[in-house]
Amino acid sequence: MIPATAAEQRRLFDLQQVDTAIRQLQHRRANLPEQRALDEHVDTLTRIGAELIAARDQLERLTAQQRRHENEVATVDARRKSEEGRMFSGLIRSERELDALKGELSSLRSRKNDLEDTLLEIMEQREDTESLVATLTARQHELTGQVTELTGARDEAATDIDAALQDRRKEREDVAAGVHEEALSYYTDLRARKDGVAVAQLQGRTCQGCRLELTAIELEDVRAAADKALARCEQCGRILVIV
Ligand SMILES: [Zn+2]
Repeated sequence: MIPATAAEQRRLFDLQQVDTAIRQLQHRRANLPEQRALDEHVDTLTRIGAELIAARDQLERLTAQQRRHENEVATVDARRKSEEGRMFSGLIRSERELDALKGELSSLRSRKNDLEDTLLEIMEQREDTESLVATLTARQHELTGQVTELTGARDEAATDIDAALQDRRKEREDVAAGVHEEALSYYTDLRARKDGVAVAQLQGRTCQGCRLELTAIELEDVRAAADKALARCEQCGRILVIV
């Protein structure tokens, strides 16, 4: 049996309330909606950043591809001009040579057509990729702004809770100072085992810790102990106080 006056029992109950308030604040601090929103935005920002890098790489590849094709078109054109020049130079004498030249010119024309078709496709892809890069850049910019805002909101919420926690911890010190050591260490051990709630109020004949009713004999025992010692609920094992 742990001796405790009615006043000490009352302080133990106060201590329980402060500890519960501290626990709720800690829970809120660990589960800030602002933090959740911030985490989500940071994730999205990371993803957009990766997509933007990929899109820029793609744009670079397409630009190089376009340049290669343009150069190739120019080479084919130059070749065609020189062959045409040869054709009208009057230097070609034989029918066979003329046929070969005509064949060459026709194959150059078709090569140029193919190259221009591909070039058109590349340019279209480049246009699409350019607009994707622009969209992603704008989104990245927007998200960066939101992350800054949310960081501020998160910090503000955390600061408020930290201030409340500091007040409650100070209050706890004062309240705990009024409880003698044996009762305090009993309370601390019990609280660890009872999911944070070691002291329950007796309301009528119901223990507020487990919501079960006490028998008439149990009730009498608790009332008899009210000014002498800590009473416990037979069902849940918590300290029962009459407040
Ligand atoms: Zn109980």
